Amino acid sequence: MKLNLFDSHVHTDNSYDGVHSIAYLCERAVAAGVMGIAVTDHYNCDVADRYHMDVRLRQSVFDVERARLAFGDSLYIAMGVELGQGHLYPGQSREVLAGAPFDFVLGTVHCDDSGRRIEEIDFDSPQVVVSRVMEGYFRVCLEMCRWGQFDSLAHLGYPQRIIWGRYRIPVDLAAYREMIEEVLRELIRQGKALELNTGGLRMGLGRTIPGPEVFRWYKDLGGELVTLGSDAHRAESLAYEFDTAMDLLTALGYEYFAFFKERRPVMLRLI
Ligand SMILES: [Zn+2]
Ligand SMILES: [Zn+2]
Repeated sequence: MKLNLFDSHVHTDNSYDGVHSIAYLCERAVAAGVMGIAVTDHYNCDVADRYHMDVRLRQSVFDVERARLAFGDSLYIAMGVELGQGHLYPGQSREVLAGAPFDFVLGTVHCDDSGRRIEEIDFDSPQVVVSRVMEGYFRVCLEMCRWGQFDSLAHLGYPQRIIWGRYRIPVDLAAYREMIEEVLRELIRQGKALELNTGGLRMGLGRTIPGPEVFRWYKDLGGELVTLGSDAHRAESLAYEFDTAMDLLTALGYEYFAFFKERRPVMLRLI
């Protein structure tokens, strides 16, 4: 088993699609030998009202504070948020981020450049062109990176999870290499991290998001900061396949990964 297991992408039942309470997640994390987690409940600006995100995030912050008291030194609990398309709602994002002493902000894109949520697109429809959705998605990622008010870019290439995972339409990231490298260069320029998300291994894609080729490009461009996230929406998925993820990074020559404390990276050895 690996040491230094730190899962920087965990949803509690304060996310509209999360299942387990923070107490149960923490119990299971300790039992599984996980040293720390970042609680990153959703705050998607575009649907904040529909899902009562303000109330949910406040509860998430409150729960993290309480869990810290309960679990003490047995588990490091970072206060985080998964902030969706924050650059499109800069005022709202500023308010959200100023509203609590966050350790970690995951920047995330769940839509293409027309504002359509990827999971609501019917990829079987002849009107939908996969490459256009992918390019639109990467364009939004680049805009968000230029805005830069986050610490790590979550699941870069996420539409793959839907397009292959659900529709069995293959997507080759190499076809978007130029756009992806532009995103990676912006991350590096701004000192932001790239997330290795193991949710793809669990949710029908059969590979991490993004896959190894992107971490190779990132490294070749000089990228070093990587966070590991399971995107767990239930306790069984905590630190899911982190062995695989850590071996993947080691094989590419990475020696460290990061978690965040008070919005600053703390490096951990890949062992
Ligand atoms: Zn997400
Ligand atoms: Zn998530």
